[in-house]
Amino acid sequence: MPLNVGLVGAGMIGADHARRIAASVPGARVAAVTDIDPGRAAAVAASCGARTAASDREVVGSGEVDAVLVASWGPAHAGTVLAAVAAGKPVFCEKPLATTAEDCLKIIEAERASGRRLVQVGFMRRYDTGYRALKRLVGGGRLGEPLMVHCVHRNASAPEEYRTEMAVHDTAVHEMDAVRWLLDDEIASAQVLFPKRTRNRFEHLQDPQFMLFGMESGVSVDVEVFVNCRYGYEIRCEVVGESGTAELPPPPGPAVRSAARLSTPVLQDWKDRFADAYDAEIREWVMAAAEGTAAGPSAWDGYAAAVACDAAVRSQRTGEAEPTGIGPRPDFYA
Ligand code: NAP
Repeated sequence: MPLNVGLVGAGMIGADHARRIAASVPGARVAAVTDIDPGRAAAVAASCGARTAASDREVVGSGEVDAVLVASWGPAHAGTVLAAVAAGKPVFCEKPLATTAEDCLKIIEAERASGRRLVQVGFMRRYDTGYRALKRLVGGGRLGEPLMVHCVHRNASAPEEYRTEMAVHDTAVHEMDAVRWLLDDEIASAQVLFPKRTRNRFEHLQDPQFMLFGMESGVSVDVEVFVNCRYGYEIRCEVVGESGTAELPPPPGPAVRSAARLSTPVLQDWKDRFADAYDAEIREWVMAAAEGTAAGPSAWDGYAAAVACDAAVRSQRTGEAEPTGIGPRPDFYA
């Protein structure tokens, strides 16, 4: 019997996950789809042979649905996740787990009370082959004790609705989770500096931004976020250790020798960069959900990202290093 997935949110990434489950995730099918926009839900449902539902609660409560995939907009996430946990159903939630740290804590409490892991958060970089190789190197000790991590997150352009805080919540949040996981460490403080602003985009947006994260271990992490760099989508990450450094490998692409030049293409779309990672995260979720539990990034990881984002947004206003105030990780999430 395949795992019957209920999809909440049939926008860009929800439709992509529905297509992924139908095309490349064995052992699962999309059984029900809901969206605030019924037309969007109907289109996605038709594309994968699912039925439509009127609301997230109908999806969660349906006897036909074994597990829930949340891809609605951020403010709606916590309510759906809490309903799924109350129903004892495994739930995959796209980031953010919730838009406030308080709501993340409510989810943690509910999940702990249920006695088993039910929540997986969509931090897909943990499933990227390059990041996995980097983590093996860091963990294997070949670089010595990690001292610094340098990260770059660039997009060709951002839409007009992209705001200065979104550089934290929507962009750097992926680096925050990636470095916590790479180093097996927590973010203790966040500081955001505003360098000279590009003239290529909108007045309301501070772009680029330079972020500094102090880890509990003392490791320093810097992240350049530049979402209107014009030339393409680029993710870089270099770990500097006491006895060596290691960098994410560049995404594969043909090396072209022509007209006295050697060149490789730069990706334009983040979906292409992490396509394999999205496939792998949903496959792992389906396998765990079929056993009635969850794997991968947890509700604690969602909470840790939320407090780090809050600190970074505070720092956008103060310019100071702001403490995240994260407490100890409960044993439940060890
Ligand atoms: P999107 O295209 O706007 O899709 C969200 C959909 O959910 C829209 O159709 C929206 O309808 C609908 N919706 C809003 N509230 C709802 C509710 N209460 N119940 C059911 N449907 C509801 O956004 P997206 O880009 O797919 O992003 C969705 C989520 O995924 C966001 O949290 C985003 O941060 C996350 N995301 C993660 C990644 C990643 O790399 N992991 C990448 C992209 C997005 P309306 O448009 O009518 O409001």
